[in-house]
Amino acid sequence: MLLIDERRAAGSAGGDDDRGLRALVQALAVPRHRVANPRGNAATRELVCDHLAQLGFHVRVEGPFGNVVARPRVPRGRPLTLVGAHFDAVPDCPGADDNASGVAVMLACARETPNDASVGFVAFNAEEEGLLGSRDFVEPPCTGWGCSRWCTCSRWWA
Ligand SMILES: [Zn+2]
Repeated sequence: MLLIDERRAAGSAGGDDDRGLRALVQALAVPRHRVANPRGNAATRELVCDHLAQLGFHVRVEGPFGNVVARPRVPRGRPLTLVGAHFDAVPDCPGADDNASGVAVMLACARETPNDASVGFVAFNAEEEGLLGSRDFVEPPCTGWGCSRWCTCSRWWA
């Protein structure tokens, strides 16, 4: 069973008008809770990975909750700005507003951002289970390099 219509989603982040964003939200809006809808969750993660990889970012699935982390092609150690959105939804719900729309905007931002700028993108999983993916992403707090408490540089560059 095809959970996400790849034809609708292909190349649809951004564009000259809202049609690309609308199509991407429609493609993302499938039940995709990590536990209740694992196949939809995995398919959504794959879609996000594919979009970011096609834009030339270094993409990895990280941590026990499967966050998608897309690093720009910049020298190691450079401070980065991260743009994030959670990609899961509440159980058995397409979650178009919460948070397919946010993921679509994040992907549109990625499309408009050169992959050698100091900007990375993170799609968090398991937000609807109590921020599990984003909490995992920022822990343990970085204690080196004079970074702020929530710096993720140690994991980012590991
Ligand atoms: Zn949400």
